[in-house]
Amino acid sequence: MEVQEIEKILENKNIPITPMRQLVLSEFLKTNHSISLAELEEILETADRSTIYRTLKTFEKKGLIHSIQENNTTQYLFCHDHCDEDNHHDYHLHFFCTECKNTVCLENINFQNVDFPKDYLIKELKFVANGVCKTCLLTMQ
Ligand SMILES: [Zn+2]
Ligand SMILES: [Zn+2]
Ligand SMILES: [Zn+2]
Repeated sequence: MEVQEIEKILENKNIPITPMRQLVLSEFLKTNHSISLAELEEILETADRSTIYRTLKTFEKKGLIHSIQENNTTQYLFCHDHCDEDNHHDYHLHFFCTECKNTVCLENINFQNVDFPKDYLIKELKFVANGVCKTCLLTMQ
């Protein structure tokens, strides 16, 4: 991934560019599955936990990544749904693979237009499926 591309993504989301933000974003662009704070700490050995955490919170606020809870840890995923500071549109299914333990976004399975009762305010929706991902299925055959 080109540095310019990473800078462009940050600029598009109105996130001031810092070396740490570039590093963290490049990790999200390298993978299609979720990353936890602990995993980022391991990858970015020299960075301290609170700096990484603040970076994730900034990204989440600005609509660059979204988070889900998984076995008591928070997993972060790159937003492909044109989210911004005011709106996250990540009402899609998250698929947890019981073999490789990775979570991916299945954006094609979308719950954006589900009819909720108008007198309830939905703040968060969780759609999680467990199973075997396509990569692991191939190795099992
Ligand atoms: Zn989002
Ligand atoms: Zn898998
Ligand atoms: Zn997602």
